[in-house]
Amino acid sequence: LQNEGQEKSLLVQLAPYGVGRFLIVTRDVTQVEKLETTRKDFVANVSHELRTPLTVLSGFLETMRDMPAESLSAEQKERYQNMMLEQAERMQAIVADLLTLSTLESAPTASGEPVRMSTVIHEALRQAQILSRGQHVFIENIAEDLCVTGMETELASAVSNLLTNAIRYTPKDGTITVSWYRTESGHACYSVQDTGIGIASQDIPRLTERFYRVDRGRSRATGGTGLGLAITKHVAMRHNAELTIHSRLGAGSIFSVAFPPNRVSIEES
Ligand code: ADP
Repeated sequence: LQNEGQEKSLLVQLAPYGVGRFLIVTRDVTQVEKLETTRKDFVANVSHELRTPLTVLSGFLETMRDMPAESLSAEQKERYQNMMLEQAERMQAIVADLLTLSTLESAPTASGEPVRMSTVIHEALRQAQILSRGQHVFIENIAEDLCVTGMETELASAVSNLLTNAIRYTPKDGTITVSWYRTESGHACYSVQDTGIGIASQDIPRLTERFYRVDRGRSRATGGTGLGLAITKHVAMRHNAELTIHSRLGAGSIFSVAFPPNRVSIEES
């Protein structure tokens, strides 16, 4: 069979041999099996991701239940409560990202209205400042009037995911450069460049898979759910845009989303 999923029927004529005729139907099930494996992996990953904070949470609760109340100082109690809250927030973040992904997957393309991306980018920059640990964030070029037709909430999450990642994976004193500009071909491009830890070439194609992380411990420690780039890729796809990743281990990365000319407009202020 030439293509996956292709079905072929073959009428076999065996009359000359005195056996009569019968029909052979063959179907390539590679794609079906691939989907089933992806589904199983996904369920296993979600269970694993949620089990870790749940285990920590129940560990703390058991300790607190079994300890005599007077042996727990006020500071210890506060510390335990903060740790439990952190685990609960982690689970909330995972569930929120999973819901976002499933909403994005349920509709193929986004219609929407022209969205002034400069406003979205400035807001993401403002929120990202809270996360920043001393990295220098530069705005290289923000085309104030350049708009994209689409869904503002989705575009905002793609914009902030790339920015948040740049901050997460760039050490203190590193540099992050944000641009929003129109290319000669009429595309509109949002790009975030960092001088962070970079990514090895063999990991790049897998970054947009759900829960794929180069360094699981580092991602968790910085509050990542492992779903940010999967969401960004889906938002890009829904806006007929393309997400590209260039990176060099130890040197830094550039993540860009390029929107096609038919989604781009200029709105005078
Ligand atoms: P996470 O929540 O773990 O950041 P993402 O889906 O956003 O999940 O990213 C997937 C993985 O890609 C990260 O765990 C990290 O290993 C890698 N990554 C993403 N952005 C960068 C970056 N700017 N620099 C280096 N590695 C990155």
